[in-house]
Amino acid sequence: MGKFPIADRKMLEVKICLKCKARNPLNAKRCRKCGYTKFRRKKVKRKEAGK
Ligand SMILES: [Zn+2]
Repeated sequence: MGKFPIADRKMLEVKICLKCKARNPLNAKRCRKCGYTKFRRKKVKRKEAGK
């Protein structure tokens, strides 16, 4: 054994750009879309609505 169930741990949280509302990974320093540096955190579920 020795395996740990960490598979689902990828995208549980994101940061939302305060300017353009784009989603960014938690480790992002600035928004990948507009370059803004302020975010708010958001929890996301694994199922994405729409698409
Ligand atoms: Zn942005």
